[in-house]
Amino acid sequence: MRLRNVPGAKDAILECDWVIDEPEKFKGKWESVFGEKRPLFLEVGMGKGRFLMDMARLHPERNFIGIEMYDSVLLRALQKREELEEQGESFSNLVFIRVDARLLPEIFEKDEVDGIYLNFSDPWPKARHAKRRLTSREFLARYEQVLKKDGVVEFKTDNRGLFEFSLEEVRESDWNLEVCTFDLHHDEELVKGNVMTEYEEKFSSMGNPICKMVIKQK
Ligand code: SAM
Repeated sequence: MRLRNVPGAKDAILECDWVIDEPEKFKGKWESVFGEKRPLFLEVGMGKGRFLMDMARLHPERNFIGIEMYDSVLLRALQKREELEEQGESFSNLVFIRVDARLLPEIFEKDEVDGIYLNFSDPWPKARHAKRRLTSREFLARYEQVLKKDGVVEFKTDNRGLFEFSLEEVRESDWNLEVCTFDLHHDEELVKGNVMTEYEEKFSSMGNPICKMVIKQK
């Protein structure tokens, strides 16, 4: 099926082999989806998926799952993947799930996930929406329910306010701050091996500094 010719996002997504329908059925056995047990990494809020496709290409020794809650956005990632596969690429270590990340603990077993990437997460600027921020203490608690003990969460954003909020949430929770920079692209050490996301490309080209943190459970 050529996804770029399909008008209805939902129907196209449901028929696509790379999108896992009813993901909770695979809780505790995600290696069966990939056919091989490899360390498992998630991007929560993957958008159009450029980062994860680059990561999947660079790290064939890992499995990746992209999580996105909107059909229309997920469809853009599927179209991009289809385009790359038509050019001869294959991504046997990458699948997608269309779900709200609030459901992570229903989809993954404790200790099943090695790492979580949060890239340019929505800021939800109103205080009453703070719980929706993907670095809120509520979300950090969900990550604890699925991550291995030494698993990491890596977060990048150009939004200084969201970054400061996230640092505060980390301080108030059971996490250690392993890495922290307010200007990733000008940090010679930390920028090595950095894989850019769509938003990162856009905002850094406008001159916005990119903040990054890496956190681990205590
Ligand atoms: N990570 C991409 C990047 O850096 O280019 C996309 C960033 S975009 C600003 C944030 C994405 O996260 C949106 O596509 C949004 O739909 C998704 N998102 C926000 N909250 C989510 C949630 N609770 N569960 C799943 N996806 C979510």
